[in-house]
Amino acid sequence: MDKTSPLSPEIPSPAYICPFDQACSYLDAAGKELKLDQGLLEILSNPRKVVTVSMPVKRDNGEILVLAGHRVQHCDVLGPYKGGIRFHPAVTLREVSALAMLMTWKCALLGIPYGGAKGGIAINPKTYSTNELERISRRYISELIKDIGPSVDIPAPDMGTSAREMAWMMDTYSVNIGNAVPGVVTGKPLSIGGSLGREMATGRGVMIIVREALADKGKSLEGTRIAIQGFGNVGGAAAVLLHEAGAKIIAVSTGSGGVFAENGLDISEVKAYAKENNRKILGFPHAKPISNAELLTLPCDVLIPAALENQITEENVNQIQANLIVEAANGPVTLEANQALEARGVTVLPDILSNAGGVVVSYLEWVQGLSYLFWDEEKVNSEMESLMVKAYRKVIEQSQMRKISPRLAAYVLGVGRVAQALSDRGLYP
Ligand code: GLU
Repeated sequence: MDKTSPLSPEIPSPAYICPFDQACSYLDAAGKELKLDQGLLEILSNPRKVVTVSMPVKRDNGEILVLAGHRVQHCDVLGPYKGGIRFHPAVTLREVSALAMLMTWKCALLGIPYGGAKGGIAINPKTYSTNELERISRRYISELIKDIGPSVDIPAPDMGTSAREMAWMMDTYSVNIGNAVPGVVTGKPLSIGGSLGREMATGRGVMIIVREALADKGKSLEGTRIAIQGFGNVGGAAAVLLHEAGAKIIAVSTGSGGVFAENGLDISEVKAYAKENNRKILGFPHAKPISNAELLTLPCDVLIPAALENQITEENVNQIQANLIVEAANGPVTLEANQALEARGVTVLPDILSNAGGVVVSYLEWVQGLSYLFWDEEKVNSEMESLMVKAYRKVIEQSQMRKISPRLAAYVLGVGRVAQALSDRGLYP
């Protein structure tokens, strides 16, 4: 059987950390804190709809490839499903299910009227041509046409996808429906109803959370030493904005390795180098090469994991030196590592808060589209900032009030809001 077939089993390695089990553990902890009814918890532990489609796609050489495309819709009690589509070799149904659940709590925490969803295809987009990626994107959406829509489920970019894929997806949906439906996806190009500020939104949100957390410790961004794992859409944007705000970005990395400079990197130079070198930054002059693992354990004030999940684990947690960790990736810290960090008094600001800037601006894009009124970038950024700051404040307040970690506080707020809506709506029939 082709390993990309939807029916191929996921064979866990001994070191396998199941992202869905981790997500359920956080949900259970929030359920316990909220004294949630067991039945409600059971509802929230299961995605409402799980779709896996088998997608035949022709490669440029005429060969037929059969890929598995997933879309998991976790919970739509607050509004339409919302969440990105990931093109990455590590995509599995369990990962997509975990990420869909995180989207539910993220939207609820931020107070935006969506439920959580996520999609994914296990491919490495770098090994496909633009035409192949277009065929894959279009086939994926046409297979899911009955499951998505502007008031049903609204996809967006995630790892490995961008405005370009959203345009193909919006076009495929619209052609099949018979009229233009810009609201079916967010993170679109500006030409078809995208929003100013969307591209940098997740990184901007991360910068805002770092700034607020430092302010609470009586510090400012000026001169703060920050290491960022990842230099893509999220890590790269966060690096630019934090650098502009006066922080010292001492290290950044991509999948193939990173660079370190004791006195801080000139992020615009690193960006220019990456652009010229096929997104690689290893080899950037005026800096020392560093591995992804080494980056995490550097002495710094703030550590921002902005790449994949399960980066800070039981294996390396004791070597982590930062006192503040801001999760820009989804699930970069494992459950056990998180417990160890909390026991040591390290502040960990969770993904569902820290990386919410993207979905917040997706929401603002959707609102602008529905009202046929488009805003300037300043307005988009300031609306996003006020939602992010409000959510951050609530998390800290809840954490202090209940004497729990910011992560558990964020879950208590997100899960609590969904559980309340669920019990107010009641069960049908
Ligand atoms: N993929 C992003 C996330 O995980 C954005 C989702 C969206 O904009 O719907 O939050």
